[in-house]
Amino acid sequence: APLLVLRGVRKSYNLGQRNECEVLHGIDLTLERGAFCAVVGPSGSGKSTLLNIVGLLDRPTHGSLALMGQETTTLDDAGLTRLRGQRIGFVFQYHHLLGAFTALENVLMPLLGDAGFATRAMTEHAAELLDSVGLTPWRDQLADQLSGGQQQRVALARALAMSPALLLADEPTGNLDTVSADAVFALLRHVNKTQGTSVLFVTHNPELAARCDHTIEVVDGHLLPAGAR
Ligand code: ADP
Ligand code: ADP
Repeated sequence: APLLVLRGVRKSYNLGQRNECEVLHGIDLTLERGAFCAVVGPSGSGKSTLLNIVGLLDRPTHGSLALMGQETTTLDDAGLTRLRGQRIGFVFQYHHLLGAFTALENVLMPLLGDAGFATRAMTEHAAELLDSVGLTPWRDQLADQLSGGQQQRVALARALAMSPALLLADEPTGNLDTVSADAVFALLRHVNKTQGTSVLFVTHNPELAARCDHTIEVVDGHLLPAGAR
């Protein structure tokens, strides 16, 4: 089965007083395993909404979404949460690190699971992940005290902790300088190439989008058909 199949996905937000606003109008999308795909489109076109649905953070109002052959729209919330934890990693523009914890502790967080404490194997795995993003010298630094680019690399290491099949990156380079943005992009590429992790990468940067293998364009809640660009 492909990594991801969306069929007729619609999303409405309830604005209260029976006021509904549909922001995704029937999205059909198939993503093969190992894809590295840019998501582009104007602000407000529905990119984040689409990513939240693909990331199982939010549910479509209509339509279906299958992840690695498993239909998700029939799962209950606990099922969605479990699948999300097993399969999906997130890197956002605002990285949501815990500032008062060290780089290493932030990467350990998703590994703790129900145990609530770190085994030596978990700590070693977290240290390897930090090493893979070049942050070994900063592993014991508080997240608050790292640069924006370093913080985003910690966020990436954390997103990779559970070896996700799909990495969702919503403007992860949006507030970084060019050099840091390039470094984060190169790391996404590296993970994609070496581990086969599929990547959906929302960006407003045309140069970075051009370096992805595919581009999907969201305009007014529709996907532009291939070849329309
Ligand atoms: P993009 O990521 O392309 O900027 P979004 O998916 O964030 O677009 O937003 C698409 C549209 O949906 C926008 O008009 C936005 O205002 C609206 N929207 C997004 N999230 C919500 C929400 N939680 N409640 C109501 N409207 C929302
Ligand atoms: P971006 O365009 O950078 O992707 P946005 O500023 O559109 O981000 O959205 C940031 C967050 O705010 C998202 O989680 C989105 O769901 C939420 N959001 C966006 N628009 C609205 C809205 N009109 N009402 C409520 N929440 C919204």
